[in-house]
Amino acid sequence: MQALAAVLYQAKEPLVLETVEVLPPGPGEITVRMMAAGVCHSDLHVMKGDLAMKTPIILGHEGAGIVEEIGKGVTSVQPGDHVIPIWRMSCGRCEYCLGGRPALCDVGTAMRFTGLMPDGQTRFRNAAGESILHYAGVSTFSQRSTMPEAAAVKIPTSVSFEHAALIGCGVITGYGAVMHATRVMPGSSVAVIGCGGIGLNIVQTARLAGATTIIAVDRVPAKLAYAKTMGATHLVDACENDPVAAVKDLTGGRGVDHAFEAIGLAEPIEQAYDMTKKGGICVVVGIAPPEARARINVNQLVYAEKTLKGSIYGSTRPRLDLLTLIDLHAQGKIDLDSLLTRTYPLSQINEAYAALDRGEVARSLVMPQEG
Ligand SMILES: [Zn+2]
Ligand SMILES: [Zn+2]
Repeated sequence: MQALAAVLYQAKEPLVLETVEVLPPGPGEITVRMMAAGVCHSDLHVMKGDLAMKTPIILGHEGAGIVEEIGKGVTSVQPGDHVIPIWRMSCGRCEYCLGGRPALCDVGTAMRFTGLMPDGQTRFRNAAGESILHYAGVSTFSQRSTMPEAAAVKIPTSVSFEHAALIGCGVITGYGAVMHATRVMPGSSVAVIGCGGIGLNIVQTARLAGATTIIAVDRVPAKLAYAKTMGATHLVDACENDPVAAVKDLTGGRGVDHAFEAIGLAEPIEQAYDMTKKGGICVVVGIAPPEARARINVNQLVYAEKTLKGSIYGSTRPRLDLLTLIDLHAQGKIDLDSLLTRTYPLSQINEAYAALDRGEVARSLVMPQEG
């Protein structure tokens, strides 16, 4: 099978649009016709070389599509089913899967860092016959992608591909940070540093959970405006104010019950920790460069009983929580339309990433079938 795909040959260079060969699904695998794919910062980190990955590789980890073909032994989906790819596949057997933390699965983690399928091979070839790696096991920046059956969850056909693709990364990650990594309660105070695709979903889930103080912190006024739409009660422009002082001012000097860092840099992580109140929880969601180190006042871990923790994939169980989010959206409790700023055909993916890098969009999608 052939497909148009956006291939990263070298970090800091544009993605190359080319036709690739997609191998048919082997046993336990499926091939998905990708209908929408999310333009997310995690991929941008790889494009910029901040997160090292071998190349060539087809990036893209958020998406939604239609199962086109299934391999031997596949039982959870049939051709024609709509699916959301799971960007950290879980094997169901390792200690993390059995412990209810599938995003930490050893098999999924290995796929993310090697770019290989569990059998150590790839399912993409370029015109020269060269093997192309998979990103996060799902490679959504291709019109077709072959992946393990365990890397996709069947969804109702009533949800649009655009909405499903948004739910698959930024929405579930932000939602889970609020509902699973910590537990925001009615009346809680919350601060969010970084109002991109994940931060905005932290804001709207905090609203859903009943938080009465939701402070959004960012340096880009347009992102703060999005945060207000999604439920922020207070906005702090970090270019003009010290975020820690501003959050303390807004909370009677105490700080917030739950602080979230959704950028992935040392300084905002330190700020998020400092604005967490006594007994509060600071959750880091942003992906930092591997060598990043933050300076934390360790004395406060004890005297103030603060908790500092990280969360990947919203600490969720995607097979269950993706479906919960589809229901919440259907009931009007999760807003997806305010998040979606633009769509682009796959051929304009480099422009889509340039706009993301400039901070112009809340969330955008590329539509692989539009070419
Ligand atoms: Zn993402
Ligand atoms: Zn596992």
